[in-house]
Amino acid sequence: MIIDIHAHMDFLSEEKIKKVQENKKIKFVITNSVNLESCKKNLEISKKFPKIKLAVGIYPEKEISSGDFKELEEFVSKNRKEIVALGEIGLDLYETNENFELQKEIFLKELNLAKKLSLPVIIHTRKAEEEILEILENYKDLKIILHCFSGNFKLIKRGVEIGCYFSIPANIVRSEHFQKMAVVVPKEKILTETDSPLLSPFKDVENEPSFVEATIKKISEIWKTPEKEVEKQILKNSENVFGKL
Ligand SMILES: [Zn+2]
Repeated sequence: MIIDIHAHMDFLSEEKIKKVQENKKIKFVITNSVNLESCKKNLEISKKFPKIKLAVGIYPEKEISSGDFKELEEFVSKNRKEIVALGEIGLDLYETNENFELQKEIFLKELNLAKKLSLPVIIHTRKAEEEILEILENYKDLKIILHCFSGNFKLIKRGVEIGCYFSIPANIVRSEHFQKMAVVVPKEKILTETDSPLLSPFKDVENEPSFVEATIKKISEIWKTPEKEVEKQILKNSENVFGKL
């Protein structure tokens, strides 16, 4: 069975979400949130569709403000039982660097909250890979997943040393970077994701969690291991992070 540990189900149509719930090949999908409104939508989706698990967080974008964390904290304490991770959280210097200090402030608070509640973190980092790793050195006891990590191989190695997991997107089918990642990162540290509906591996087709099948096929070629074994390994890795979902 396949898993997608990073999708945005609140951006998908109800019809597509139903399809995920009904797909026997999919074990679970973790829907990641980008702001409080998205947390609320994803909470509703996860309550309605048992295969969809909830991650909550504040995505590092232009519109964030310093009050956002307080609201998130309240939301988490009210809905703790439904939450399996904090995500998608992190730093982004690609879209803007004007509010980098604020991004950092919120990110650190989210990491501390994850530590307090023993929740895994699903991390977004774009053009801020080095800054993120420097921070994560101080959070080695957390279960950390670097989602769609595009840092160079020196930085990947540093992430491995910190103990991070790397979730590989479905566009591994055409990305040499992620194909190489599947070789460099230890097998026990690999997870799968799609970032649906973004990052589709196929031209003009909206991304969806079932496309993890394409990732499994590609990793199976790279590892020279049967697809079933790859699926088993990735499920085992996910259990080490999230427990049984
Ligand atoms: Zn995402």
